[in-house]
Amino acid sequence: MTCVLAIDIGGTKLAAALVDETGSILRSATRPTPRADVMNALAALVAEVTTGGPPPVAAGIGCAGPIDLATGTVSPVNMPSWREFPLREEVRRLTGLPTMLAGDAQCFALGEHWLGAGQGSDALLGIVVSTGIGGGLVINGSPLLGPTGNAGHVGHMSVDPNGERCECGGLGCVERYSSGPNLVRWAVDNGWKGEPADARTLAENAAAGDAVALAAFERGARALAGMIASVTAATETTKVVVGGGVSMAGKVLFEPLARALDDVAGLAFVRAVRVVPSVLGVRASLAGAAKLALDHSPSS
Ligand SMILES: [Zn+2]
Repeated sequence: MTCVLAIDIGGTKLAAALVDETGSILRSATRPTPRADVMNALAALVAEVTTGGPPPVAAGIGCAGPIDLATGTVSPVNMPSWREFPLREEVRRLTGLPTMLAGDAQCFALGEHWLGAGQGSDALLGIVVSTGIGGGLVINGSPLLGPTGNAGHVGHMSVDPNGERCECGGLGCVERYSSGPNLVRWAVDNGWKGEPADARTLAENAAAGDAVALAAFERGARALAGMIASVTAATETTKVVVGGGVSMAGKVLFEPLARALDDVAGLAFVRAVRVVPSVLGVRASLAGAAKLALDHSPSS
């Protein structure tokens, strides 16, 4: 049995697991991401899952971005205590293992490709729609990371160059239209009075037939469809797996998304792309981090 250490780092939660080559989780643990001293918390978490377990041969990390693979550093937007933090080297030093790093959404895509809804796809796009919109591409079974590790940032593809200014500085990014907070913002601006004013309530109201809530999802889904059609045209994507909190809205998101894609996409290979919900959910990024480590372990 080959066993690797998988680590998933986000702004709210740290997760670690020992995973074997079939994807079985042998041991796992999570803890909240502290405001400071994140590395101490991570070290304790790693000790918790590795002590007494089978020895891992490599470590894989999925971390919230931006990241820089050239230097192995991370600067997660929602983790202000880490700026150009040398995560890959710190984990290598902590564990003594060969250590691989990728973005959390890239790991989401890789995990869904390995064990989830993306199995068998030669060109897969994974999208995480939540507070922001992340993404990752898996081409011929390998994650497309890019020179600095930031390939797949599909949330910041412009779907309307004449549109609204995004927090990233860009213009008309799909995130500005389709992320949870932006769905809610548009709904509130158009008279929606849901309480609490969050994406979950908006989804519940849309499912119950609220006209503004439905329109918010229609609008967000149309922006997502524009992005998906563009990515598909560029990469001949065959499947798109959608995860993240907003994807839990279910058919109030996926039905207008299918209609919009039917309207937006033209060429036959673009029209052929299939859009499906995540099956691994919150476990996908951890699974992807494990696959990253397995593919680069000394025995592979
Ligand atoms: Zn943007």
